[in-house]
Amino acid sequence: MGTGPLQGILDEIAAEARDSLERGKVADYIPELACIDPDQFAIAIARPGQPTLTAGDAGVAFSIQSVSKLFMLALALGRLGDRLWTRVGREPSGQAFDSMLLLELEKGRPRNPFINAGAIVTTDAVLEGASPREALGALLRFIRAAAGDEAIHINDRVAASETATGHRNLALAHYLRSHGNLSNPPEMTLGTYFHQCAVELNCAQLADAGRFLVGGPGVPRLVSQARIRRINALMMTCGHYDGSGDYAFRVGLPGKSGVGGGILSIVPGVASVAVWSPGLNHYGNSKLGTEAMERLTARTGWSVFGPE
Ligand code: GLU
Repeated sequence: MGTGPLQGILDEIAAEARDSLERGKVADYIPELACIDPDQFAIAIARPGQPTLTAGDAGVAFSIQSVSKLFMLALALGRLGDRLWTRVGREPSGQAFDSMLLLELEKGRPRNPFINAGAIVTTDAVLEGASPREALGALLRFIRAAAGDEAIHINDRVAASETATGHRNLALAHYLRSHGNLSNPPEMTLGTYFHQCAVELNCAQLADAGRFLVGGPGVPRLVSQARIRRINALMMTCGHYDGSGDYAFRVGLPGKSGVGGGILSIVPGVASVAVWSPGLNHYGNSKLGTEAMERLTARTGWSVFGPE
């Protein structure tokens, strides 16, 4: 598909989002996120060797929150390889992002690296050979290289806001530690985790940062093709928490959401797509973002399961 029709589709989707009356509910358990204007929407598509296309508020920076988990996972796999899987599983949880339920049943081994417990373990694994400052430096270098943008930074106010209120994550970290699945003091691992969640990107930067997962020529080569395939598989099965099945059904692409309202989806071999709208659906995934992705794959035929 050429740039013309694709830009037209993005403009149409942004206009439909603008007219939407039901925008979902902004995450309010992190005070800094509670005051974000829900009337914002952006979409961006980055394709190998082509200019990034955007529509809506694609220059407005937002907190990527759980989308950071896939960058930290790529870093952890690069450092530990398959050893990471002794500490965290690869199965969907069917539970909310911050659930403790299965952790108790499964003796402190989180189901996957995208639920909070699994992401905390992944960050802890990166901290095995690095201080928090070094781990966050490596993460920023990775995201900057992926996006081709040296200006990407962490919003310290958002990190501080979550540090002050992140009692549930602290409980998860202590519980992991009680099972011997956290090597560092909970406060140290979580300090790093909260800062990774507070990385700020706009929609165009997020689409650019996702290109390393598209594979093939013309994209930043930051991980091997085998790893690209596996990270995409985890995004498809676990990237939207207990809404992962619904996202696969409606959109049909690997994707990772965050409570900041961002979603990064990959069309393998074709494109990296970012959407952002702060209002969330009942799974904690962007409401308008999911609807926009559904429209995009219906209109482009980009679902990995085939066209409509
Ligand atoms: N920082 C958030 C938390 O740990 C991330 C959750 C999300 O984006 O789903 O609660």
